Amino acid sequence: MSSQSGIMSKGVHVQVGRPPSAQPIAGQPPSATASFVPPSTLPSVPAIPQCPGCPLTWDPAVFWSTYPFHVHEPTSRYNPGYQFISFSPLLIRSARCLGSSGNPGKPCTRCSTLPFDVAALRDRAKEPFNLVRTEERMNHVQLLEKVADLKEQVNDLKLKTVNLERSLASARDDVAEYKAIFHFLGTNTVPALHRMFPNALTQEWGSKKFFHQIQAASRGDYIPRSYTQYEIDLAILLYELGGGSAVHAMNHSIFALPSLKTLQPYRREHKPKPCLDHANLLTISNNITTMFGSHEEKGGKSREAPVKICGHTLMFDEIATERKVEYMSTTDEMAGFCLEHVDALKSLTVGKDTTTVEAAVTAVKEGKVHIAHEATVGAISHLSRHDYGAKPVFIGPTCKKGSWRTMLETMLSVLEAWKHSPDGEAKHGRIIEILPGNPLYPLIYYRHIFKRICTLLCSWMGMLVKGVCVNRDLLVLWFERLPNHDWSEMSIENLLHPKDAQCVFRAVKLLLCIVEIQTIDKTTLDPSEEAEYEALCLLGKVFEFLLEPFINPHLSLSQQITSLVTFAHLACGLFLQNSTSFMSNQLYGDLQAMVKAAIIMVAQTKVLDPRLDVLLCLLGDNPVETLFGRSRMCGGHSPNCSISELWTRFCSAMNLDNVFKHHPELEKTPRRLKLVRARDTDHVGPTQWVGKISADSCDIDLCYDEGVDVAESIMREHSVSEPKSFAEHFQPLEKDLLRPFGGKYPALSPEIDRSVVNTSPPSDTSSDDTTINPVFLFDYDARLGLDEAQRIATSNDPHSVFAVIDSEGQLCHKKAIVRTFFETQNNQISKDRLQRIRGFTIGGKTWEREETDSEMVSSSTHFQLGNLFATFICYNGTHLGLALAKSTIIKRGIPGSKSPSVSAIPIAELGLPSSPFTICGQIFSLLPLK
Ligand SMILES: [Zn+2]
Ligand SMILES: [Zn+2]
Repeated sequence: MSSQSGIMSKGVHVQVGRPPSAQPIAGQPPSATASFVPPSTLPSVPAIPQCPGCPLTWDPAVFWSTYPFHVHEPTSRYNPGYQFISFSPLLIRSARCLGSSGNPGKPCTRCSTLPFDVAALRDRAKEPFNLVRTEERMNHVQLLEKVADLKEQVNDLKLKTVNLERSLASARDDVAEYKAIFHFLGTNTVPALHRMFPNALTQEWGSKKFFHQIQAASRGDYIPRSYTQYEIDLAILLYELGGGSAVHAMNHSIFALPSLKTLQPYRREHKPKPCLDHANLLTISNNITTMFGSHEEKGGKSREAPVKICGHTLMFDEIATERKVEYMSTTDEMAGFCLEHVDALKSLTVGKDTTTVEAAVTAVKEGKVHIAHEATVGAISHLSRHDYGAKPVFIGPTCKKGSWRTMLETMLSVLEAWKHSPDGEAKHGRIIEILPGNPLYPLIYYRHIFKRICTLLCSWMGMLVKGVCVNRDLLVLWFERLPNHDWSEMSIENLLHPKDAQCVFRAVKLLLCIVEIQTIDKTTLDPSEEAEYEALCLLGKVFEFLLEPFINPHLSLSQQITSLVTFAHLACGLFLQNSTSFMSNQLYGDLQAMVKAAIIMVAQTKVLDPRLDVLLCLLGDNPVETLFGRSRMCGGHSPNCSISELWTRFCSAMNLDNVFKHHPELEKTPRRLKLVRARDTDHVGPTQWVGKISADSCDIDLCYDEGVDVAESIMREHSVSEPKSFAEHFQPLEKDLLRPFGGKYPALSPEIDRSVVNTSPPSDTSSDDTTINPVFLFDYDARLGLDEAQRIATSNDPHSVFAVIDSEGQLCHKKAIVRTFFETQNNQISKDRLQRIRGFTIGGKTWEREETDSEMVSSSTHFQLGNLFATFICYNGTHLGLALAKSTIIKRGIPGSKSPSVSAIPIAELGLPSSPFTICGQIFSLLPLK
């Protein structure tokens, strides 16, 4: 159909292009403009048989309404090229009619093709109007239909316009409201505004409702209480750090954080109870349940991850407390006596009168028992990448004057309690034990050990390596030569004379600087310096193997263990050669114990579950120090507290731990615990470790052999003569890394440990305590039974908080009694508080410090460290010799005195007979005099 009409319209075009009058045909009307001429007016026909035209058949309904007459318009593009010659019957004739036909009665050849053209018109007339392309080709009916259709469209559009007008009006209203809201918010404070938006969304408020609500909130009539978990955490943080008043303030501020009452169900009250007379198993077990038991938050939900079995560490450390005896109203006892000597008191229970309190005062005055100034805290932490915070399970006051036996008993009590508690080993996994029953157990705190190495290095005796005494003065000279070293953040002076001896970051930096000495260009050295350089390089390598496993998070577990084994053997080699001149007995023992602990940790984790990660960086007491830091943070301006307050602080610290676990960005990490303050290795924690550290990835034997090989090759390279081979050296069974000379363990030496500052010699060194591997008979059930009986005895005894103070029966509150009896003259909390307010840190220089003389030092006027000098010396007591030496120490005062060493002294002053200076040096050459 469409192709047919296409052909036809083509034909039509051709026809229209030629004016119909240009080819007049006989018997035809002269002009084609007359589309219709009545047959009666046609001119008379000549005798030739005329073309009678062609009959038109039209079947689509009524002809008059369905025939598109206007296509016959001469100017129409769709002119079909024929005219009507009669309407009754319907006869048409082609515009190009030949006029005559060879067959009388029949149309001429041109007219005879017309039915095809008509068929196209007819088909189109039958179609619905919307299929006909232009109005020009439509018939009347189709046009009417189209008009109806258009009318309908117009109506639709009218409706649409009305609707649009309406929504425009409402949008204008909205805009006005939003502008009003905007203006209102700009000029008023609306509490808890941020919580309005989620409410508006969930409760589908319009702008009007929203405006209404913020106005109500501004007046204080409405506060949305749909707190988010984040806000609850923030409020808990506020409570633990600032107390109830801080929460109240923030609750009434524009932030409208949750009130104390709202917080209550979310805060976990895990208060560990202190042990007052001995390591009480019942108390420890209860503490384990409080800390590790399950806890449901409001609505039965718990944010805690499902319990996963893993290894645990038990850590012990001391925290300073106020020297104070207190009355505990819950148990009617006095608290604050040292656990070590509390047995000297018959009873801690105050009772009805003041006799026990008076007896205790006498005992304290006689020195039989001490008022504790520190508390021993035993804490357990998960050895996992997450939630590795220490949870305290044992708190006991201590005077630090007891034997290790007390400490060991405490440890065993905690270990046993963990083993038997339903919330302990059964639920969470075992504590990885390092040599149970051995006093070397706790000495694996690598951060402490780093600090002790630095203390040793900074002492004037230093460390003797290959005949060179590496001490503070020598290090100053060499650190100055370190290439590309930025001393702006911490000067050499600060590094070696620390204001804060407890800063781990400084310790690690000092050791790393020694490692770096290897990078100094060897060709610039003179012969006297070469020996020092050699020694420092060797020492640097030793420290590198020690530090890397803890500060390089890219190391795998195998690399860590290999490195530690290498370190242990290098240290052993140097210790064999130089003995205690290299390092103190105790430090040597602790370092070896630390390496041993690391290896045992791997082995035990393999037994527990080989797929578990071994986090050597958790080895030590960092989590405990974090806990202490947080508990001090809770105290705000008075960081120290009494033993009874300590447990409240720990409770707060645990809540803080929980908040920081979910929002680590809120925590300010304690500066002193950071190992390396560089950008990428900032605070190397378990979450940062990237190396492969699962227990099954490490073959301990392989790592050990490799570590020994590396150590032996380094010792050959630096020509450390002894021993030739460790395998041979350790052949006799009584010799090992912990006992390199065989026989006695150096760590048990009674000598003063010079790697620890302000050491007081152990006061309790009774002969039976020096035996090793003591066998403790620890009967858990019997001990627990005893503790339980004791508790029942005290809890069944109802007590009043008042006691009789005189014969007339006058009553007084026991708290007041205890406070009055124990009030002493020197009850001052902190002597250096005034100085600390002025900005001096503990352990720093005194506030009366002298200003260092800033006179110019030059080689022409001053004798400096490292200068060569010649002197007469007396040796063997009888012989005189001339010695050429290099100065290593310059001191004011006699040798060995505690006076500070200096780096330079005026030459003029040195020559005086009354010169106060002493110079020590290393002799290069000695010429005997006859
Ligand atoms: Zn004809
Ligand atoms: Zn004591």
